[in-house]
Amino acid sequence: MAYLGNPGRTLQVLDKYNFSFRKNFGQNFLIDDHILTKIVDAAEITKEDCVLEIGPGIGTMTQYLCERAGKVIAVEIDNSLIPILKDTLSEYENVTIINNDILKVDIKALAEEQNGGRPLKVVANLPYYITTPIVMGLFESHVPLASITVMVQKEVAERMQTGPGSKDYGALSLAVAYYSKAETVAIVSPNCFIPRPKVESSVIRMTVHEKSPVSVKDEAFLFAVIRATFNQRRKTLVNSLANASLPGVTKDKVREALLQMGKPETVRGETFTLEEFAELSDLLMS
Ligand code: SAM
Repeated sequence: MAYLGNPGRTLQVLDKYNFSFRKNFGQNFLIDDHILTKIVDAAEITKEDCVLEIGPGIGTMTQYLCERAGKVIAVEIDNSLIPILKDTLSEYENVTIINNDILKVDIKALAEEQNGGRPLKVVANLPYYITTPIVMGLFESHVPLASITVMVQKEVAERMQTGPGSKDYGALSLAVAYYSKAETVAIVSPNCFIPRPKVESSVIRMTVHEKSPVSVKDEAFLFAVIRATFNQRRKTLVNSLANASLPGVTKDKVREALLQMGKPETVRGETFTLEEFAELSDLLMS
């Protein structure tokens, strides 16, 4: 089977199987060999690696991954793509195709079963409608991970890498900073996909920290505080946190914590750095 990373081969396969795109699954298939190579290069895959690919589509990127990795696990929700994948990937013995919704897969168990619990590398052209739950889920469920190299909507890549003071700053930016070091690897034009998406895309590589840049008493509580803050980002921290029903968090408790941090009572959480959220969440627990 020849590589699929060009429009002609992709159309041939789609035609052969009379495939119809399902918009609700965020299906935009890559047709550009140059970008595919760039993604796989950025992920720094070797034969030692087990790669998890989310949404293989017709197997275009999967082919590149199978060439470089020791093992590839590809999770695809659309059952009409499974016979196509079996065909396009028939040459490779190092790939396991799973027909499931990635949000329902126990990835930790999968890493254990397929890679002896050693860190996986995630590589994907993500379905854009669920980028945030996928990335947050990978981080927060503590799946053993070395890196996540993914194509996302360009503005989401920006949101992932921004800091206080930007309107795009939020729980996703803080989770990315807490768990990883992020870099944009490429900006990708809509012309590199079939069908063309309406937006520009970026490839972002997140190298997962062995140790987070801040340490807290309770990580789940830190992210509960962060989410509560950004759920009501226009409110003062005192109000947004007191409204959020976090255990033991009253207005007075927040005021006291802010006083200890030398912050005014009227401060908004969207001005807080990761370090400040960490300090606040520990103070709220004391
Ligand atoms: N990797 C292919 C490529 O680059 O050409 C396809 C990428 S396309 C942007 C996203 C893929 O994710 C589609 O194949 C889609 O069917 C699949 N997908 C959508 N939602 C999914 C989910 N919840 N779990 C697993 N796969 C999903």
